[in-house]
Amino acid sequence: MAINKPQSVWHSLIRIALLYFPCWIIGSLTDSLSLITIVFCIAIIVFHYLQIIKLNKWLWTERGRYPPRGIGIWSNIFDGIYGQQRRFASKRTDLANIIRQFRKGAEALPDGVVIFDNQRHIFWCNKIAQDMLGLKWPEDQGVRIDNLIRTPDFIAYLNNVNFDKPLELVSPLNDHYILEIRIAPFESDKWVIIVRDITHLYEIEQMRKDFIANVSHELKTPLTVMKGYLEMTESLQNLDEKTWQQAHKMMYQQTNRMDALVSQLLSLSKMEQKSNPVEKMTTDLSELLTILSNEAKSLSAGKHEIIANIQPGLKTSINESELRSACVNLISNAVRYTPEGGTIKIEWQQLDRQTGRFSVSDNGVGIDANHIPRLTERFYRVDEARTSNTGGAGIGLSIVKHALAHHNSYLKIESTPNKGSRFFFDLKLENN
Ligand code: ADP
Repeated sequence: MAINKPQSVWHSLIRIALLYFPCWIIGSLTDSLSLITIVFCIAIIVFHYLQIIKLNKWLWTERGRYPPRGIGIWSNIFDGIYGQQRRFASKRTDLANIIRQFRKGAEALPDGVVIFDNQRHIFWCNKIAQDMLGLKWPEDQGVRIDNLIRTPDFIAYLNNVNFDKPLELVSPLNDHYILEIRIAPFESDKWVIIVRDITHLYEIEQMRKDFIANVSHELKTPLTVMKGYLEMTESLQNLDEKTWQQAHKMMYQQTNRMDALVSQLLSLSKMEQKSNPVEKMTTDLSELLTILSNEAKSLSAGKHEIIANIQPGLKTSINESELRSACVNLISNAVRYTPEGGTIKIEWQQLDRQTGRFSVSDNGVGIDANHIPRLTERFYRVDEARTSNTGGAGIGLSIVKHALAHHNSYLKIESTPNKGSRFFFDLKLENN
């Protein structure tokens, strides 16, 4: 629609004069100038009144449509109002788009965001904040944040108004989650809360502390034994042959124990550092497993029946040193946790066209079902007393887990207390 230019006052006056001119001539000729002038004025008023009615109708009942056709100056008025309306509408759309984009951006953040004002009334919050803090949107809009999050630590933090350091807060919804709360001023009268889930960092920190405590504990026991024997053997005078031999044997055993622990820790840390994929080679596992079965026999020293059921010719892509570690740990566990006279079966068989399965079964002490999910955790042992006889620190299955993860596999465990256990995993076979 063509928008007219605004008319000047002179332009309007000239128009009225031009309209009035014929009336003036007729009035002068018929000697009824006053009557004709009154009629002319009434006609002008009626005309403008009709235009005002049109404007009113358009503004209130036909809003959003094109303006009605105006005559004279009214055409300018209609077009002017219409132009302004369109400009406002486009500005409103732009503003709405900016707000929508801002909200989308805040929704895309990995952290929770809550905006509140000086009176602590919630202005806005994103979905993550709703999930983390239990807020509801839009129901909680305008509600005081300290009425919704009533944890004393949070209220004290808000009242303190010193937000230099973040607040660590147990989630008000689930006390297993730890949240980090940061507050910063936003515009002149608003504040923004950023909420982050730091449970994972907490867990890592806890794991680090547990790890140090466990290693110290594991090293402390053999060191105490060794220190005792060293003190006992300080003076050669009261040291007979028999005592010395016993002391030497114990110190040797404890040194071996520490050595085994440190080697296991080193190999675990090496595996944890390596990212997947590790270097691999296509290998026929049967050779390696035959060697390991023979080693199992010497480890068992004739106390167990060791049966090896190894299918030759199955090729798989492996990192030999890691897979060897995994198998050695499983086999040596079977030997250690099976009483004398028990049977241990080591198997490597084709399961289907693409899969080979390695398994170690024993009829040893077995494991209670509730321990099974935690067996591959570092330092996890079923029975401290039982394990201290066998010398394990609870690292072996953790090594197995890492080694198998590098081969896109995982350890499966079946066990019945006092009947025995089966530890097994599957590997993808290479086409021959
Ligand atoms: P450890 O060095 O203590 O044996 P592992 O990580 O190898 O550590 O094993 C964790 C725990 O799992 C052991 O302490 C033991 O209680 C249990 N376990 C492992 N293998 C067997 C098995 N074949 N039979 C019974 N229990 C086992």
